[in-house]
Amino acid sequence: MPRYVFLCVDCKKEFEKWMHMDELGRVEVVCPHCGSKKVEQAVATFSAVTSKKS
Ligand SMILES: [Zn+2]
Repeated sequence: MPRYVFLCVDCKKEFEKWMHMDELGRVEVVCPHCGSKKVEQAVATFSAVTSKKS
């Protein structure tokens, strides 16, 4: 199951959520910090962490 990163529009905090691809777009994502439903999907972390610096 892939992990998605969301950014809350209201409190500007990021949070992660494990979600099946089928759930994405159907399931309502709520910010765990402030309870807002205004969240944006950010970049998936598994591709973002592997930043190579040579
Ligand atoms: Zn929030």
